[in-house]
Amino acid sequence: MQFRSVNPYDGRVLGEYEGLSKEQIAQKIQSTHQAYLHWKNTTLEKRSALMNTAASELQNNKKLYSESITLEMGKPIKESIAEIEKCAKVCAYYAEKAHEFLTDIPLATPHGNAYIHFNPLGVVLAVMPWNFPFWQVFRFAAPAIMAGNTCLLKHASNVPKCALDIEKVFTNAGFPKNIFNTLLIESGDVKGVIEHESVSAVTLTGSERAGASVASIAGKCIKKSVLELGGSDPFIVMKDADVVAAAKTAVKGRMLNTGQSCIAAKRFILEKEIADAFTKAFIQELDQLSYGNPMDLETDYATLARQDLAEDIFAQVNKSIEMGAEVIYGELPKKIDSAFFPPMILSNLKPGMPAFEDETFGPVASFLVVDNTEDAIRTANESEFGLGAAVWTSDEKKGYEIAAKIESGAVYINQMMFSDPTVPFGGIKKSGYGRELSYLGIREFTNQKTIWMK
Ligand code: NAP
Repeated sequence: MQFRSVNPYDGRVLGEYEGLSKEQIAQKIQSTHQAYLHWKNTTLEKRSALMNTAASELQNNKKLYSESITLEMGKPIKESIAEIEKCAKVCAYYAEKAHEFLTDIPLATPHGNAYIHFNPLGVVLAVMPWNFPFWQVFRFAAPAIMAGNTCLLKHASNVPKCALDIEKVFTNAGFPKNIFNTLLIESGDVKGVIEHESVSAVTLTGSERAGASVASIAGKCIKKSVLELGGSDPFIVMKDADVVAAAKTAVKGRMLNTGQSCIAAKRFILEKEIADAFTKAFIQELDQLSYGNPMDLETDYATLARQDLAEDIFAQVNKSIEMGAEVIYGELPKKIDSAFFPPMILSNLKPGMPAFEDETFGPVASFLVVDNTEDAIRTANESEFGLGAAVWTSDEKKGYEIAAKIESGAVYINQMMFSDPTVPFGGIKKSGYGRELSYLGIREFTNQKTIWMK
């Protein structure tokens, strides 16, 4: 198969890349396994030095790498630059912290000395999405490699250039050959890779459908899997919140990456007393954003990453409107003939409507008005997903109590949900399982081995 790189902003074909044959896939798996047999015996000092060089490689070439992102999937360039900087940060973080996170943990036992000792698992396959084409890969690969694993990447089909660039980062940083290999393969080839005897584990970031498929194959093979899937994050604004600050942050949270973020705030749950004021402030903020060429530093939002994604969100919004949802901002296009989809706000949403039930992966905000705290918590939890959430209130104690009752992998109080190397990231329910980042992330792809001395 040929992989095409197409600029979603202007439809230009940027490049074409030949996919791997079955023999080439098998060869790459073997090479990555051979590399593991050496890499697992290297010292953490050596791994740290190389990972710090990878951080410098990213920092020193951020123009080059960020342009690959923007040209290939349409993210505003200022966000692509920030993405590359964050990748450098996660490499430097694990270069510094791996030793601490992988040091034996002593255990209190009835007799003798017992420890948890961390060994790498082997070759880990990463199946990754296009929306943060560098970050999703680095947040997995930096800790996995520091723990002594080697990695195979099956990236989304629309970002082959980014996939090859990421391999180049590790090569240019001086890592031994085959520590990190990109496989230009179709999703249909993933099964064979997971089943291969030299592959030990798999992580997938993407949709529920892809996650269920990959996890069931891994399950049949009794191989470890981690799933980072979609979300429909609630953003709760209580009546005592700073409404203007909440609205400003809400727009940022919803519009980042032109709305294509798993942890974007998607359902805005507003206590009735502040619903009108919040809506007004949200619209004012939205009106200040500029649409344009994503390569322009002034651009705040651009097209989606592909035309079919604009068609998907069109269908969700259209069906919700047919079922009684109201448009309170923006206008549904008559038809979709490019990757563009406009910012919109919907209200009067009910269970059963796509904009209530499903993940809206684009610049569409769903507004839900509630009577009180209990109603807000119930509405927030009325979702199949459980990735992140935000709660806005001037009463920190109340914020904490609400957070404790929300069914999600994380709740942020008086701020938008975002990821950072220092805190764990991951979901519950249909948002997946397992954790990335922090000390939990580096231990996901290790054998947490008990050693007990009599
Ligand atoms: P996707 O269609 O599931 O694709 C993700 C990756 O899985 C791609 O590499 C894709 O390859 C591959 N894939 C698709 N179907 C597969 C199958 N049946 N078997 C094996 N591999 C398969 O998702 P997407 O549209 O690219 O990404 C958007 C989704 O990712 C959203 O739901 C978003 O919320 C989620 N996401 C979650 C997180 C998180 O951390 N929780 C972060 C970012 C994104 P092809 O491109 O070749 O189909």
